[in-house]
Amino acid sequence: MSERPDRTRPGTLSDASLAVHAGIHVDSTKALRTPLVMANSYQLPDDPSEISWSATAPGLYTRNTGVNQQALQEKLAALEDGEDAVALASGVAALHAVFFTHVRAGDHVVVSDVTYEATWRLWTELLPQRYGIEASFVDMTDHDAVRAAMRPHTRLVCIEAIANPTTKVADVAVIAAIAHGAGAILMVDSTYTPPPVYRPLRDGADLVVHSLTKYINGHGDAMGGAVIGRRELIEPIKADAMVDVGGIISPFNAWQIQRGSVTLPLRMRQHLASAQSIAELLAEDPRVAYVYYPGLPSHPQHDLATRQFGRGCGGMLAFAVDGDPDLQNRFVANLRLITSGFSLGHDDSLIVHTGTEGGRVAAYPEPFRRMGHLRLSVGLEDVDDLRADLRSALDETFTSRV
Ligand SMILES: *Cc1c(COP(=O)(O)O)cnc(C)c1O
Repeated sequence: MSERPDRTRPGTLSDASLAVHAGIHVDSTKALRTPLVMANSYQLPDDPSEISWSATAPGLYTRNTGVNQQALQEKLAALEDGEDAVALASGVAALHAVFFTHVRAGDHVVVSDVTYEATWRLWTELLPQRYGIEASFVDMTDHDAVRAAMRPHTRLVCIEAIANPTTKVADVAVIAAIAHGAGAILMVDSTYTPPPVYRPLRDGADLVVHSLTKYINGHGDAMGGAVIGRRELIEPIKADAMVDVGGIISPFNAWQIQRGSVTLPLRMRQHLASAQSIAELLAEDPRVAYVYYPGLPSHPQHDLATRQFGRGCGGMLAFAVDGDPDLQNRFVANLRLITSGFSLGHDDSLIVHTGTEGGRVAAYPEPFRRMGHLRLSVGLEDVDDLRADLRSALDETFTSRV
């Protein structure tokens, strides 16, 4: 464990300092960085009475926990202002870990009608069909509808702070109150809004989920996921979904993500500023059919987003150029600096064209359903270079059309 004085008690340090100092484990070598420990197993004490048989005790076996996983968890708990955290193999492993651990056969869940693809499939097909758990999909901006969806056996409400991909914003404090009033817990997938952009636990969420693959690692070279919240809710996730289902994060990925997260507050500042600038550029261009970015006054939840997030409205936007899905593809092909690829929150800007297929599209706003949409993750390149790339791709796309 850490031999340093605890400089990271809640409330004593600001975000940038926490991101540097929280969760550093110095060993007997006194190396200033947490060593990468790839061992699968640890030497047990000679006296068996000294062994902790708790499933999540350190010093046993790496599926029960390891040094790098613990260091990362401590940092994530500090950054989210949560009591405890569990790091897992991917964001989807983290989502599944919450559902598997906290929802049982016969329970009911209320899920945002706009949600990440795997969450959608887990709650439309996999969990209802295999385990008999009922799910209702609700527009989380319609609070009466959320209230009406709650049932006596509703166990979990599952939302995204800013929903992937439409950027619909949920009022977390209001939905937390509704969930708690009905005896349910609230899980917020906050992948689009990592700390210090937003901390859902402070607004009453019970569990926060992150795809660490995205902003928290930030460099596009490791997958991971995490759940953060009160110990009484995190400990069973460790015991059930981690130790006995096995979605453990690799020590190397935990080490890599811990390193990437050091610059998270600094990177987020740039992501927020550049995304706002690019959203404004696209909104002013008549060749762009629509732009959804919570930082634009035209966004349906702009006031809520400004109040809830404070520092900025994330680094993700959804838009379409004025034309059919083929034209969207041509526009993407004309980009030089921005890369066509999945994922988000990396240093490089990524764009992906999503068509109008699939059940979950039914809940998207009208222009998304008609034209499809481009999901843009604004990266850390110079914002003027990004603006120039978008402008010249628009020029090429619309010149070649006539
Ligand atoms: C990417 C993503 C996930 C899944 O994370 P992986 O690390 O790819 O498994 C979950 N939720 C949201 C909102 C995401 O964007």
